[in-house]
Amino acid sequence: MSWLRSVWYYCLILFSYEIYGDEDIVVQKQTISTAFEQLKYRMESEHELSVLPQLRVIRNQAKHYAQRTIEIQTILIEASIRQHFGDYKHSLSMHYQALELAEQVGKPRIMVETLLAIIDLELDLERYDHAQRYVNQATQIAQALNQDDELLVHVKLWRAKIYLEKGSFRQALYELELGQKLAKNNSPLSARLLLIEAQVALRLGNYLVSRTLLNEFSIKYMSSADDKSQLDYQLALAESALQAGEFSEAIELAMKGLEQTFHTRYLEEQASLQRLLASAYAQLSDYQQAHLYLKRYSLTERALDQQKRNNKVLQLEAQYALAHQQQQVSLLEKDNAIQAQQIVQHEQTLENTKLTQQRWLLIGLLCFAAVLFVYWRWQNRRYTSKLEMQVAERTAELKERNKRLQTLSFTDSLTGLSNRHYFFSTIDSQINALPEKHDMIFCIVDIDHFKKINDTYGHAAGDLVLQSFADILKQCTRNSDLLVRWGGEEFLLVMPDMSRRDAQEAVERIRQQVERFPFIVNGQTVQCTCSIGFAPYPLTPDLQEQVSWEQVLELADSGLYLAKEVHRNTWIGLDSVRQPSAFDVEYTLKHYKEQVRQGNIVVSSSYVGAEIPA
Ligand code: GH3
Ligand code: MG
Ligand code: MG
Repeated sequence: MSWLRSVWYYCLILFSYEIYGDEDIVVQKQTISTAFEQLKYRMESEHELSVLPQLRVIRNQAKHYAQRTIEIQTILIEASIRQHFGDYKHSLSMHYQALELAEQVGKPRIMVETLLAIIDLELDLERYDHAQRYVNQATQIAQALNQDDELLVHVKLWRAKIYLEKGSFRQALYELELGQKLAKNNSPLSARLLLIEAQVALRLGNYLVSRTLLNEFSIKYMSSADDKSQLDYQLALAESALQAGEFSEAIELAMKGLEQTFHTRYLEEQASLQRLLASAYAQLSDYQQAHLYLKRYSLTERALDQQKRNNKVLQLEAQYALAHQQQQVSLLEKDNAIQAQQIVQHEQTLENTKLTQQRWLLIGLLCFAAVLFVYWRWQNRRYTSKLEMQVAERTAELKERNKRLQTLSFTDSLTGLSNRHYFFSTIDSQINALPEKHDMIFCIVDIDHFKKINDTYGHAAGDLVLQSFADILKQCTRNSDLLVRWGGEEFLLVMPDMSRRDAQEAVERIRQQVERFPFIVNGQTVQCTCSIGFAPYPLTPDLQEQVSWEQVLELADSGLYLAKEVHRNTWIGLDSVRQPSAFDVEYTLKHYKEQVRQGNIVVSSSYVGAEIPA
């Protein structure tokens, strides 16, 4: 059940490698060591290629956790298995690998063990010079390691083997003697030394010595000897019997040895035994048997040759496989390079596409923003122009209203004539617009006894009379004249650019038109007259500065009073001043009657011969 245990450990390693990683390294190392020990134990009973996978797993684990000794040992085991199956090339390279590793990590003992394994291999390949070189190297290292006699015995043993193969029997015996001294009671090593010594004796033809040595081996070490040693013992014993001329015994011993080689791969020993049997049978004149074993011997030799040839073919195949693999690798590398290039190109294309997309997106956004801006501007302008239009409309409306309001405020509602307010707003500009040496006539017209009409016909009838009176005044005046309802039944008429004479005609015309006009009141015709006073502005050209239009207006009013007092239905104009240099306007306005009587003011009137009352 040892293999089951190995498999269990093998699984355990795999599992723990996945799960733990770097954690709990000590436990991991222990697990690997145990697995390795299990494998070694298993290999004592089996020597098959089947252990290789587990061996490699353990090696990888050992490498991962820096267990160099186990790593090297696994390499050496695999190398030994390969050697055993005739794969000398790989075996040798693995040995070199192990040697290098051992040197790197400073393990001289393992180095020596590796060198000895290489020597074994070189002897198989019959390359004695190489073997000699390696054994010298191993000796040097082993000697440097003081007090490690066992290792030195190993070296001596292999040195003896080399000498034996080379035919230097004396030197081989010398090495074996030294080895035995160092080995003392180390039984496995002593047993092997003893067997080699017996082989040397046989080569020297000393079958008696050989028999003594083999006898010693049989007594001391046979029970604990391994298969190979037992086979070597059997072969040597048969050889000694042959040399002693005991052919039947030799045949018996060889047959026994041959049985041990069945189901093993010890082909060389098998071939030696078959050759020995052929010789023994020939000595006994049993040529048939001799021929038979000679044939078997040649077959075994051929198998050995075949094995070696196979090995060469394998090597060649391996080389081809390697070359093929390298080719594949280079192709793959090229593929990878092309792929990498394609990826780069693809990435570049992607990048370009992305950039183009971004550019278009940006352009799109800008266009959208521009359209939005234009739309906003258009809306804004539309809104502004709408507002402006509204403002203009409102302004025009306001102007119109203001105009209407102004017209209303400047107009007398009953007669439709301008009112006093309008007069005061316009008179200054009219005075200023008056050309030089042109007169402006200020007239005040008042309806005579109007109160009576009101009293007789009612206020509404009086209003109608006022309207008709205004119409007459409008008809009697020019467009350029300013006609104002001055208050009640009193009207102001300002006639610009008019001489004193023309003024007299104009007021006479008004007086006559009123006198003749049939006013219809409550279905009755009523007669009305009016009185008019007027004065020119400037009163005289010299007095323009001293007498204002307001004073002129007062003089006109004075004229009206005079007309009322004198007769009614008459007009009086205070035309000019006789002595302008002595004219005192304030005084005149207060005492206008006296001034008129004294003739200081020149008066014109429709009523001839009128006396100015005191
Ligand atoms: P005189 O010849 O001296 O001017 O006498 P008179 O009656 O015309 O003058 P008075 O000043 O004594 O009277 C004026 C009257 O005019 C008094 C007033 O009732 C009237 N009156 C003033 N305004 C209006 C008006 O708008 N409509 C009407 N129906 N009468 C008015
Ligand atoms: Mg009046
Ligand atoms: Mg009046």
